[in-house]
Amino acid sequence: MARRKLVYEGKAKILYEGPDTSTLIQYFKDDATAFNAEKKDVIDGKGVLNNRLSEFFMTGLNAIGIPTHLIKRINMREQLIRAVEIVPLEVIVRNYAAGTLVKRLGLEEGVALPRPIVEFCFKDDSLGDPLVSEEHIIAFNWASQQELDDMLALALRVNDFLSGIMYGVGIRLADFKIEIGRVFEEDYQRLVVADEISPDSCRLWDLKTGEKLDKDVFRHELGSLTDAYTEVARRLGVLPNNTTSMNKPKLIN
Ligand code: C5P
Repeated sequence: MARRKLVYEGKAKILYEGPDTSTLIQYFKDDATAFNAEKKDVIDGKGVLNNRLSEFFMTGLNAIGIPTHLIKRINMREQLIRAVEIVPLEVIVRNYAAGTLVKRLGLEEGVALPRPIVEFCFKDDSLGDPLVSEEHIIAFNWASQQELDDMLALALRVNDFLSGIMYGVGIRLADFKIEIGRVFEEDYQRLVVADEISPDSCRLWDLKTGEKLDKDVFRHELGSLTDAYTEVARRLGVLPNNTTSMNKPKLIN
């Protein structure tokens, strides 16, 4: 069997060459990292859950006309995706105060924000992905003004979609991060949602109890990360309701 060519290895995923030059295979690892990889562990089954959850969210986005890089899930850990040129920005949308916003502005965690707030961070691990302004983005040519406007609109549409889906299963979407890629089609270029959407990149709080069901469980050692992600998947119907063993996810084919 021919060995696949590795294109890029990140903290939680690996990209391999796809069947043609316009595609890639995205592999979800079990590795968990936090605080810019200062905290690391391997969480059994996390990659399988995130592959399924990201497929679920991106399929929904594709269906309502918000384009993503997802073509299809291939197996338990892999997806076939479109090869995109990643915009070097992390786009964060916040609905409730949490994380670095709380630290930066001295807000109380859990406070509802007056409106969704979109932030941009420059993707650079060695700098700790610093928050940047629209001025920086334009001045350093990380994106054009048109792209910036499009990214803002895209991020808010993704927020409406995800917030609605999560609210429907009793979960508050406090915040999330997406990455955006450029796809070139003949004379046209458009932006698509890339990377992943999973509890690794969102803050998800149970509506009734406030229980955290996202990577903060790992960041702050609040319990089993697999149990938290399994609960999100179960509520969304990505896993069967009668899952008995929370540690070994049983997946619907
Ligand atoms: O840490 P901070 O509060 O800025 O994170 C905001 C949101 O973006 C959280 O949901 C977090 O999980 C996500 N995020 C991410 N990857 C990063 C930074 C933040 O997924 N590198």
